[in-house]
Order: sequence, then structure tokens, then C-alpha cells
Amino acid sequence: MGTDGEPSLLAELAGRAEAQTSRVSHILVVDDDAPLRRSIPRLLAHPSRHFDVAASVSEAIAQLEARQYDLVLLDYHLPDGTGLSVLDWCARHDRKDPVILLSGEEGIEAAIGALRRGAEDFLRKPCHLAQLQRAVDNALQKAQLVRLNRQITQRLKDSERLHRYLVESSPDLIFTLNAAGEFTYANPRARNLIGYTRSDLTGRTLASIACADDRPRLSALFCNPERPPREAQSLEFRVDRNPAANGGTPQTLTFALSTEPMVSRAAAGKAARFVGTYGVARDISDRKRAEEIIVYQAYHDQLTRLPNRLLFHDRLELALVQAQRRKGTLAVLFIDLDRFKLVNDTYGHAEGDQLLRGVASRLRQSLRKGDTLARVGGDEFLALLPDLAHPEDAERIAGKILQTLNAPFRLKHGEFRVTVSIGIALYPKDGEIADVLIQHADIAMYQVKRSGKNGHCFFDPAHNANYRQRVSLENDLRLALERDQLVLAFQPQVSVGRRQVLGTEALLRWQHPDHGLLNPTAFISVAEEIGLISGISHWVIDQACGQLARWRAHGHADLRMAVNLSPRDFEHGDIVATVSDAIAAHRLPRGALDLEITESVMMHDTSSCADKIGRLRQLGVGIAIDDFGTGFSALVYLQRFPVSGLKIDRSFVRELNGEGNPIINAITGIARGFNLEVVAEGVETEGQIGHLRALGCDTMQGFYFSHPVPAEAAEEAFHHMPARLLN
Ligand code: C2E
Ligand code: MG
Ligand code: MG
Repeated sequence: MGTDGEPSLLAELAGRAEAQTSRVSHILVVDDDAPLRRSIPRLLAHPSRHFDVAASVSEAIAQLEARQYDLVLLDYHLPDGTGLSVLDWCARHDRKDPVILLSGEEGIEAAIGALRRGAEDFLRKPCHLAQLQRAVDNALQKAQLVRLNRQITQRLKDSERLHRYLVESSPDLIFTLNAAGEFTYANPRARNLIGYTRSDLTGRTLASIACADDRPRLSALFCNPERPPREAQSLEFRVDRNPAANGGTPQTLTFALSTEPMVSRAAAGKAARFVGTYGVARDISDRKRAEEIIVYQAYHDQLTRLPNRLLFHDRLELALVQAQRRKGTLAVLFIDLDRFKLVNDTYGHAEGDQLLRGVASRLRQSLRKGDTLARVGGDEFLALLPDLAHPEDAERIAGKILQTLNAPFRLKHGEFRVTVSIGIALYPKDGEIADVLIQHADIAMYQVKRSGKNGHCFFDPAHNANYRQRVSLENDLRLALERDQLVLAFQPQVSVGRRQVLGTEALLRWQHPDHGLLNPTAFISVAEEIGLISGISHWVIDQACGQLARWRAHGHADLRMAVNLSPRDFEHGDIVATVSDAIAAHRLPRGALDLEITESVMMHDTSSCADKIGRLRQLGVGIAIDDFGTGFSALVYLQRFPVSGLKIDRSFVRELNGEGNPIINAITGIARGFNLEVVAEGVETEGQIGHLRALGCDTMQGFYFSHPVPAEAAEEAFHHMPARLLN
């Protein structure tokens, strides 16, 4: 049905219903006899009757043109013609107004003429009042019956049209099925909605157009005449839109279906018979999709599209129930990216996000089909291996993960190699409930971090205590700077040959409220991991420079200061600006400050440290490689990085014996070759001093001269040291 006629149809039906309410009969009296024109209406008067009058043919026609009459009492003899002319006019104009002809005319022709032209009745004048009343009553009654009949037919037609309109223009799919569940009617929406015309559907069952999963249910409900549905049903089902109508592209729609059983009226003494089903199906695909999206968002990580912690937890709990039943084993892997913060801080979040997506996809590839991988934090992932034949399988998979990450990731700024620390917890050995397993895998992961990262490790109950300590250490460390708990100790560096203190190395201490004075080995790596190191370095540089400036002002004019830096200081933050600000603030001359870096800075040349070292050197800052000889000690670094000195690690000094030490020999040789200053650290005995001097190393540092001590004690050492060296 087209839509054009619809509003007018509704208006028309509404108008007609109104018109059919209580009604007055309109009667036209046509007579040239004025007393009759007056008396007839009076004689026939009734509250439901209304009379108009006309005295001639032309007046009668004028009245008829103005409206329809329920009855016309028409005189035969009129001044301008006969009553027959009025009947002729009615015939010509297809008017059905009932007419009773009144005539004094004796001749039968007048009567025949009138009845032929459709007059209801013919009365001879003068007639009895009773006769006239009867004729009028009859005519009005008949007209009433005809009108009623016409109204009923019209009403039926209207109602049929209305229902058809409602059904056919409904946005829902409306249909009837026979007892076997086959379509017997479907409204035209079927074509738009599911791509089937009415004739496509005729003879097909409802189940046959549903998606395979829903078919058995629909079949059982609607296509089984033996067990017809007794009650109304409400259910959801899915339909694959007719592929032929969809250009071959599959499209699945979800419908909310309401049905009513149709029963034939019960014959006397017999039960009603089920004849089929009436159904209305509403397309709720959009709502369904919206629901699915909301559920998906709640259970997934937006960035990697992996399950989130919530979904992981659900799956783990389910897997635990199954493992319990089967007496099986499962593993939870806690996977944490090493040094991910660095990428975010250095290259920005977009690069960080890209890297995370890349890592997620490689992790996914390392797992089996039934395993779950979830992203549960910035750079933290959890894997659930639900079905392990042996605990070692978890180790094998962890190994595989580490291996797939070997190849570098290509980012906008170049290639980046990612390593991860993986902690493994096993059910039932390490825990029987989800939270415990996750926490134990987390603790095992921390263990890997502690022992150098880039590896995997099973949970061990001994880790638990470490973990708690570690967490509280982290929390305390965050407060250490603002609570003024950090202090510096100073250890003199001396020239044995010149019997002179050349400078001091500033060594960091933490005055912990519960644990006492802590050495840097206890907290520097934690500070590095949780991103506190650059603030700490900033503080150390400023304090050390300030102390040096005071000593220089107190008569130790040539004194130098060595400060240790972390590799992280070269990765983010502007170390060059920090150093140059401190030098300027404390008005230190060139050559007063040395920075000690480790070989690892040069190995991971991620953010142009060669350039930074060059700029520091231009500020007149010395750069020494600390603990030289313990790392890779590749000579290429010495060529590439403009360093100014080397510090021989104390492990080599400790091993010095009668024959000297070939490594120290080599290091001093290298220093000479590259024109670098050498400092030997960890000197504890006179014997070591002798050996070092013999190997050409004159600058030394160690307990023999002084332990690292507070500033005042160090200043005293400056005075006593030369005397001690004279011995
Ligand atoms: P390092 O730079 O190699 O510092 C020398 C370490 O050797 C110091 O340990 C010092 O106390 C110790 N030492 C000095 N002489 C002797 C000796 O004769 N015998 C023995 N056995 N040891 C001696 P400390 O103070 O515990 O510092 C450890 C490391 O922590 C330092 O090694 C350095 O790498 C790092 N560190 C110290 N202060 C800072 C700092 O302010 N920032 C950064 N990033 N690292 C620091
Ligand atoms: Mg040092
Ligand atoms: Mg050292």
C-alpha cells in the first residue's frame, strides 16, 4: 500500500464515524397551495423531523441542490411544470432522495410516470391524514433501513481497510502460520526486513528462515502440529536476511517475536482446535548491537582489544572449577614489559600505544587457542593456560614468549627491542583461588625484575616476603625526597704521588625512618623502576655542587666533585640542562664537576647519549666510566663517546696480588692510549697502593684513605690525608 492515501484514509474514517451519530430526518414539502405548505409540516411534526418548503419546480430544485432529503412530498401540479420534472431532475443528477408524489390527477399515467421515475409512493389528493402519516413513516423507515444498511457495509469496509492499513504499513513483521508452522500470510514489511516476498514465504516454515542455531527451538514451538503452543510466546530469534535480496552479503537480524495461538471456535461439545499462530516480530538488531558493544567495552581493553582484568577473572574462575573437577593443572602468567615507561616518556604515548599493540599481538601468537591473554594495566598482561599436561609446559610457553619478542619492533623513531619479565603461578600448588594465583604470579614477576629482568620464574613462597618489603619500600621512597630523608656521603679521591686530595665522590644515602641508613644498592634500582630517579639525580647534583662550592670557598680551591648518574638520566629528562643549571647556580668553574656513568649507558644508545655526553663535556664537565671492566668494556664505545676518565672497579683491585693484575694492566694501557684519567676504587691496603702505582695508576679511592663520610668529616680528612700519605 502506498503512503499517499494514508492520512486521508484515517481522516475520512474519523469524519464518517462522527457523521453517523444521532440524526434528524430532513423533509421537503413541495406544493403550490400555501395553506397545505403550512399545514403538512404541522400535521407530520416530530422532534426528529425538519421541514423545508417549496412552491414550484424551480424552488424545489433549488432546495435539492442545496442538500439531500430523507423524504420529498411532491405535488403533481405546480405552477411551472409537473412533479415529474422534479423526478426527472433527480434521475439526471443521480439523486436517490425518496419521493412521495401527491396528486389530484385521476389518470393512472401520473402514478405510473411517478413510480417509473423512482418515486417511493403515490398518494391521491385529497388523502386522509392517517394515510399520509403511514406513507411518510414507511418511507422514512425504509430510508432509515437503507441508510443503516449502507452504514454497516461502509463500516465493515472501513474497518477492514483500517486493519489492513495497520497491518500492511506496520514497521513490524506481522504474519500468520498454519498448524505446521508454514507462513499463510506475511505483511509487505517482510520484503524490506528479511528480503522475502509474501510468495517466497508461502509454504515455508518460520524455522526455515531462522539462523541455524535458532531453528530447533522454533521448530519445536511452532512447527509441531502434535504439540501446538497453548499460550502466547515471547522470544528472540535471528534471521539471516535472504542472501539473494542482499547482493550475496550475509546479514543477520535479531527479532523480538510475540505470538498468539489461533484456535477455531469450539463447536458444541468439542474442544477448540489449534489452527495456527499469529505473530508480530520486531527488528531489534540495532538495540542488540548496541548491547553487544556495551558488553564488549566492559570486558575488553580498548587499545589492544584483548580481554581486560574483569573478563580474565571470569575465565580464570571458570577454568579453576573445571581444573578442580578434572584434577588438572593450570597456570597464570604475569607478564610485565621491562622499561616500558621509557618508551612513553621518550617517544610519546602514540608510539607507546603502537608498541603495546605490537607486543599484544606477539604474545597472542605465542599462546594456544584455548588460552586467554588479557591486558590488565599499562604494560601488564595476564595469560591463563587452562589445560596443562605438565607444569613445565608453562615454562615452555614463557620461553616462547621471550623468544617471539626477540625481533625488534619497528616504530616511527626506529627499531625498539622489548623484553618482558614473566612470573608463573600454578594451580593447585601456588593457590586455589583466582586472586591468590594472580597475586603470586605478580610476586614471581617481581622476582624476575629483581634478578635482572628479561626472563621467567615460578612463584616461590619465599618471594612473598620480598614482595611485601618491595611494595612498602616503593611507598616509602616516594616520600623520601619531600621528607628530606636523603643525604650525601663523600669519599675522598687522592693522588698518592702528589700526596693530595683531588676531590670527593658524592655517594647517596637514605636515612630511612625504620630501617636506618640505607646504601644506594638497596634503593637505586627501585627508584629507577618506578620513575623517581631523575628527581633524585637532580637533588644529588644540586647538593653535591653546593657542597663543592662551599669547600672551594673555604680554601679548597682546586677540589673536584664526582657525582654518579643513572642510565635513566640519559633516557628521559634533560640531564644537560640540570647539570648546567647547577653549575651556574653554584658558580662552579670548568673542570670542577665529574659525572660517573656506567657502560650500560653506552650500550643502550637509545636517545643520543653520545650527543648529551658531548654537550656535557663542552660545559667543562668530566665524564668517567664507573666500574670499568665489569661490563662489556668495548673499545668502540671509547671511540664513540667523548669520555674523560675510567674508574677501575674494586673487584679488580681486590684481586691484586704479588703478580699484579693483567686486567688492571690492560685498563691503564687503554687509558693511556685514549688519553683518559684513571681512578682505582676500593683500595683497602698498602699492598694494593704499591701495585697500582707500579701499574701507573696514581689516583685512588677506598677505605684505606677514608670511608664515605658526611661533609664535615670529609673536610677534616682533607687536612689529615696528606700526613697519612707521608707514612
Ligand atoms: P660506585 O659509584 O662504584 O661507588 C663506590 C662504592 O664502593 C660505594 O658504595 C662505596 O661505599 C664503596 N667503596 C668505596 N671504597 C671501598 C673500599 O675500599 N672497599 C669496599 N668494599 N667498598 C668501597 P655505595 O656508597 O654503597 O654505592 C654503591 C653504588 O651506588 C655506587 O657505586 C654507585 O654506582 C651507586 N650510587 C651511589 N650514589 C649514587 C647516586 O647519587 N646516584 C646514582 N645514580 N647512583 C649512586
Ligand atoms: Mg661511582
Ligand atoms: Mg664504582
